[in-house]
Amino acid sequence: MIKIQKLGCACEKPTSSYTEFRTSELGTDQTPGIHAEVSIQQCKLCQRIWICYAVNPEENAPAVRWYKGIVSKKNRPQITSENALAYLESVEWYVYGGEAFENTTAFGAGKISFG
Ligand SMILES: [Zn+2]
Repeated sequence: MIKIQKLGCACEKPTSSYTEFRTSELGTDQTPGIHAEVSIQQCKLCQRIWICYAVNPEENAPAVRWYKGIVSKKNRPQITSENALAYLESVEWYVYGGEAFENTTAFGAGKISFG
């Protein structure tokens, strides 16, 4: 398991007022039945890099749930839109939220299911 330290930074409990990050698109997870957009976010406050996996059960609809986890600079080049989900499931903790969770965020770990 990949250990990740919590720093208490705003990126760990993102609210709508948290905008201190830059985003770059990584791509779409092409796994059949999953419509997920994968992006990289770098927090401007702590400089850590997050893999952000945003899912909607329907194609071309806005994400209703998202999961994001920290990746090191060293491991970042190995992340693709296809292995991002497996990466998130392998880290010590990730943050999840979105409409499906009434726009609250929480820490999670382990298997991610979209049931
Ligand atoms: Zn941060």
